[in-house]
Amino acid sequence: MLICTVCGKENDERNLPWRCGCGGPLSPVFEGAEPMNRHRVNPSEQGMWRYATSLPPGPAFKRITMGEGWTPLVRQDWGETEIFLKLDYTCPTGSYKDRGMAYLVSIIHSLGVREVIEDSSGNAGASMAAYSARAGIKCRVFVPEYTSAGKCVQITSSGAELVRIPGTREDTTRAAEKAAESTYYASHNWSPWFAHGVKTFAFEIWEQLGFEAPDALLLPAGQGSLVIGCYLAFSELLESGEIQQLPKLYALQPENCAPLVKAFEKDSPCPEKILKKETIAEGISSAEPVRGREVLKAVRESGGAVLSFSEQEIWDGFLKLCRLGYYVEPTSAIAAAAADRLFRTGTLRSGTKTAAILTGSGLKAGDKILSLLSDPPRGK
Ligand SMILES: [Zn+2]
Repeated sequence: MLICTVCGKENDERNLPWRCGCGGPLSPVFEGAEPMNRHRVNPSEQGMWRYATSLPPGPAFKRITMGEGWTPLVRQDWGETEIFLKLDYTCPTGSYKDRGMAYLVSIIHSLGVREVIEDSSGNAGASMAAYSARAGIKCRVFVPEYTSAGKCVQITSSGAELVRIPGTREDTTRAAEKAAESTYYASHNWSPWFAHGVKTFAFEIWEQLGFEAPDALLLPAGQGSLVIGCYLAFSELLESGEIQQLPKLYALQPENCAPLVKAFEKDSPCPEKILKKETIAEGISSAEPVRGREVLKAVRESGGAVLSFSEQEIWDGFLKLCRLGYYVEPTSAIAAAAADRLFRTGTLRSGTKTAAILTGSGLKAGDKILSLLSDPPRGK
């Protein structure tokens, strides 16, 4: 059963709705599912599927998987302190999206879907293309024209049809929604199941820290699936008594595209309308996050914050990570920018157990990184 997060109406997943009749996003209700605890972890399963008890299968469910998840959590010296870096860019297609996509594609495949449309700034499209190929699902991916060449090549190599749309990320979404009038719209942003796959990265951090939650998490946020995934995971652990309080969730946005920051500062429940500008953090350049209400609620309940960062701060974070050996895409570097600022200003103190997720591989963004190295965004 799927329930609308806005009006509360129940929707039957067998009818394949991608949103509620009222326009609200849907979330699954897992009847009879028990919240995660350490005894429900199955270490003999590969990757994120060690938490399979928290990922209920539908009827005729067949896992579409490449062993995604169980990525390294690296203890990293950070100035006077240290942070824990979760290397999710080591997932099979080079981004954390594989967690959500493995679960999403497994479910829709079990519901009989054999043709999908997805829209993406690149990473989710590459992931959807790969998992659809494994599932025998025909896939068409809409991307903004500015998407990195590496991601476009990855999408077409899997056999998916690539449709490049001029204009903004939102123009791409509108084109996909139009095409979805005749084909199932498997948008990871609208999908009820995607965030449940994503939540496994938070379970892993908890387990890798010796079944302890960190005090704070630094999460790049465009549509905010990492924030929602974290909230789902730690809420389960809170409910089962494994942890005593939610970690503080910090949702990180580029100044050039910060609809959640504006809403957080004004104490508004919904994302604000903004005029966005170009950003090197292309993966989180979302002016209209469809689950923005859920993201804002999660951050507020955790006692965290939504913060924005300049292009220069993100670029400096990128160079810092590279010099430490982490070759990530510039989007991921916003986590490094956040660690620098939050420790410098004392918002996080030395000794605060802080984890950050590195979301996507730099190998996909070589063309962008090359041009940024010769023309860095200083003072822009
Ligand atoms: Zn509704």
